[in-house]
Amino acid sequence: MSAKPPASNRPNPATRAVQALGRIEPRTGAVAPPIDLSATYARDDAYLPRQDYIYGRDGGDTVRHAQDVIASLDGAAVTQLYASGMAAIVTLMETLRPGDQVVAPKVMYHGTLSWLRHLEATRGIALSLFDPAEPDSLAQAVSDKTTLIWIETPVNPTWEVIDIAAAAALARSAGARLAVDCTTAPPCTQDALGLGADIAFHSATKYMGGHSDLVAGVLSFAQDDDLARTVGGLRTLMGNILGGFEAWLLIRGLRTLYLRYERASTNALAIAYALEGGRCQVLYPGLPSHPGHSIAAAQMTGGFGGMLSLVLPSFDEAAATVSRLALFAPATSLGGVESLVEHRKVIEGSGSPVPDGLLRLSVGIETAEDLIADLTNALP
Ligand code: PLP
Repeated sequence: MSAKPPASNRPNPATRAVQALGRIEPRTGAVAPPIDLSATYARDDAYLPRQDYIYGRDGGDTVRHAQDVIASLDGAAVTQLYASGMAAIVTLMETLRPGDQVVAPKVMYHGTLSWLRHLEATRGIALSLFDPAEPDSLAQAVSDKTTLIWIETPVNPTWEVIDIAAAAALARSAGARLAVDCTTAPPCTQDALGLGADIAFHSATKYMGGHSDLVAGVLSFAQDDDLARTVGGLRTLMGNILGGFEAWLLIRGLRTLYLRYERASTNALAIAYALEGGRCQVLYPGLPSHPGHSIAAAQMTGGFGGMLSLVLPSFDEAAATVSRLALFAPATSLGGVESLVEHRKVIEGSGSPVPDGLLRLSVGIETAEDLIADLTNALP
């Protein structure tokens, strides 16, 4: 594979994604990238590695190609691919030391919160939680021990919006790093690094892959610094890298990211408008009535995404609604082409702060009219 010389007018991000950076395989001219599944790499005649390719656990050519595409979209100095979103999170958090404090929202992806609670219980890493619905709560949660502020925006599954630029300013003044979980708002809509974050994290299992057929994670770093290098080294030692085949599927998914996200956003907004004011509360940052709408409009420039939640009066009414839906598959995960519904309380358990009657919808790219009819038919 060879990169073309940089064009004087750099194409827009959506074009770079569609063309997977425009790399044409030089031998055959294949426009679909070849796939490198090699677990090891032969050295040259001088017994030197060729272009640093040594062993599959450091990453092969397809992994590097996918990393290059995402780095280009995220505006990152370094992008690393992982075997899952959680593998990326766990590897980054291996750099925390006893006595460090992590600040995070009290409602967020439950796997990240569980891991932070595990680190607090077993490694002496303090956890300070803030309320993403309260604008001053983040600043109050930060202390002189804070080394990492981890935010997720919009917040899964209640979809409060956190101001990334304000969080970045706070992190800078505290001497901490800001990491943003951009899983539901990937670079086609939200430029976390451009807004001042140090690290953009993505579960690429979701919108980046986009077809519910791969599990992958991404860390994009604003700087190629000690932290990025240490985390990259840990990825190799912990064996957390993505496989070549999944990296190839990810490149294919990224080619339609902008198109899919735009369509999912249009569908979700149409659903939100159709259901607002009815028997359930609609949580969606795209609605002008949403408390975080103006921040979302400023920092989600490519659409508000396909994630929205409906809050029904009770657990039982939510469960009955799921059973009546025909087009929304009752499955966990999000960001795929097909629509999914999830009764979050069932997944998160009784200790979770998520309302009993909350149904999380991952709106896909089907026809909006069909999805609205399915929901209208299923709701009490
Ligand atoms: N962050 C968010 C917002 C998620 O929704 C998920 C998975 O659902 C993760 C992180 C973890 O990613 P993965 O399932 O790829 O390990």
